[in-house]
Amino acid sequence: MEQITRPFGWNVSKIDFLILYITFFIALFFFFYGFYRHFKVWSIGKRAKININFFSYLTNVLFQRKVSERKFGTFSHIPIFWSFLILTITTALVGIQMDFGIKFIYGNFYLFLSFISDLAGILLIIALIFALFRRLFFLPNYLRSILEDNIILILLLILSIQGFLIEGLRIAYFKPEFEKFSFMGYLISNLFYNFSKEQISFLHRILWNIHAWTTMLFIAYIPYSKLSHIFTSTLNLIFYQKQPSAKHDVENNLIEIINKESFSEGEIKTGYKYIYDLPWFKILMVDACTICGRCTSVCPAYLTNKPLDPKKIVLDTRDYAYEYIENKEDKVLGLVVGEDALWSCTSCGACVHACPVGINQLDLIINYRRALVEDNNYPSQLNNSYRGMENQSNPWNAPKNERYKFAKELNLVILKENPNYSFDYLLWIGCSGVYDSKSQKTIKALVNILNKANVKFAVLGDEEKCTGDSARRTGNELLFQTLAYENVQTFKKYNINKVITICPHCYNTLKNEYEFFGIKLEVYHHSEIILALIREGKIKVNKIAQKIIFHDPCYLSRHNNIYGQPREILNNIGTLIEPERNKKNSFCCGAGGGRMWMEEKIGKKINIERTEELLSKNPDLIAIACPFCNIMISDGVSRKNSNVKVLDIAVIVSENLI
Ligand code: SF4
Ligand code: SF4
Repeated sequence: MEQITRPFGWNVSKIDFLILYITFFIALFFFFYGFYRHFKVWSIGKRAKININFFSYLTNVLFQRKVSERKFGTFSHIPIFWSFLILTITTALVGIQMDFGIKFIYGNFYLFLSFISDLAGILLIIALIFALFRRLFFLPNYLRSILEDNIILILLLILSIQGFLIEGLRIAYFKPEFEKFSFMGYLISNLFYNFSKEQISFLHRILWNIHAWTTMLFIAYIPYSKLSHIFTSTLNLIFYQKQPSAKHDVENNLIEIINKESFSEGEIKTGYKYIYDLPWFKILMVDACTICGRCTSVCPAYLTNKPLDPKKIVLDTRDYAYEYIENKEDKVLGLVVGEDALWSCTSCGACVHACPVGINQLDLIINYRRALVEDNNYPSQLNNSYRGMENQSNPWNAPKNERYKFAKELNLVILKENPNYSFDYLLWIGCSGVYDSKSQKTIKALVNILNKANVKFAVLGDEEKCTGDSARRTGNELLFQTLAYENVQTFKKYNINKVITICPHCYNTLKNEYEFFGIKLEVYHHSEIILALIREGKIKVNKIAQKIIFHDPCYLSRHNNIYGQPREILNNIGTLIEPERNKKNSFCCGAGGGRMWMEEKIGKKINIERTEELLSKNPDLIAIACPFCNIMISDGVSRKNSNVKVLDIAVIVSENLI
């Protein structure tokens, strides 16, 4: 009976094998030397412990979760990844059988391997042609195309086609019926129908050798090209540390350090000034970039022609790290990537969420800003808000006693005056809530809602200080920690653990970043509280015949995963419509990352870009859930001469309370 298998090593002479093994060891030498260089670059970084994240490995490497968020990823990278993996495994199995003489590839297992490897091969070819076509004819402007990208695709294409031709020639020589399972090879074997056995065998041997050498070239090329991401991106995803994307903790508690009798200057340095200030895994992180450009494609600064391209921040850091191992020349990283680029960032986090390989561009930007601020090198426009936070405890640089006056005007319970008052929540008024007229309205509306629902709450009056968000995002770590430390002492004094805030920036800072100073707060955005009150029937709202569009604040939706609550509230009131970019993919208003305090002089204004998008849906009302967004979108609407109202959700609810 015909044995269901194939002749392994058929038509290959000892000389061919000898050449194969010699080239294999040469390829391995280049392969390992190449990765040794990568390793050398990572080891410039500081030593740091890191946990292994198997979940990230499973979801993002094996199941390509992030990659599949884009159509191109789904139709090109996923087939390439899986086909490549299957073909590598089947080739390795063949190698094991041939080199170790263990016979296990026969019968049904052989048929299965034949079928699956042909399927993988054909999928690989289709996906490669698709990718090549896109690169050559439909290249998006955020993607750079260099010769290397095309070489890689063509090399893989050549390898796949060679594989099918060799298989087709072998099948044409033996013509076994069961090889129909190798459906592509079987089809190709028909091409050689009129060839003699000698011709087939000659062609097969030539092609086999060429295929073997091309494979060795490919192996040797991996660490020197973008293909290295097969390993670097995988490692980066294995070491991926999941945390809120706007949590920017540092190692040093500066307040404790400066309260010591003596300390060194190095102890109060927090940013990444030089390449060796980065922990090793962050150098691995920049080395893992696949240059896919997804971060660039969503960056509001890049899309409005600012000098910031998050992909370039990553690649400039990586390239400089490689330069550093050659010449050991110290360069300030903030200057390497460009100050204008750094200060253009709104800290919206769109880049971080778009990256399929777990790179945190924002973390680099904040740390480069920190190092520049530590060298007193920052935009002079920040001086006013820094002075304000230092002297008046608010970035508006307005008198600090206004906080007390505003609380008094609203008849709120101020804890300083009622230290024994029993309350469920602290209402965090926030700097905007006191000093910006639009947010004052939001606070008044929220107070009205809370009173209507009999919620027991209190405020801090002038004991409340800026959370320090703008200081932290602009890299002024000492100022941030000073404010945070003082607020934490006040929270502890009044035993506060539940906080309501109208500001997603305060929400993020209080919830995610104050823990570092020894307090774990339960923080609620006002949309969460209002929705809970509606659901519990403690407040009721009128239905109005208006189309309401909701603008997601970056610090609420993307950074902190809150996007359902405001929508549910608005659905109770009007007809909710969505902008093109929404929820986690929302587009920034332009005020985050300290941009609120700086002039936007270059390119199109980000708030105009967003306002145009919102207005294009013809809403009756634009709903907002952030004081900064309120200012920016209101400005956008008035610049567009539109009559569409911009209101915070608290105001919308309060105006429609039954
Ligand atoms: S955080 Fe936002 S503005 Fe900053 S680089 Fe990333 S996408 Fe661009
Ligand atoms: S940083 Fe991430 S998203 Fe940006 S180009 Fe590199 S791999 Fe792509």
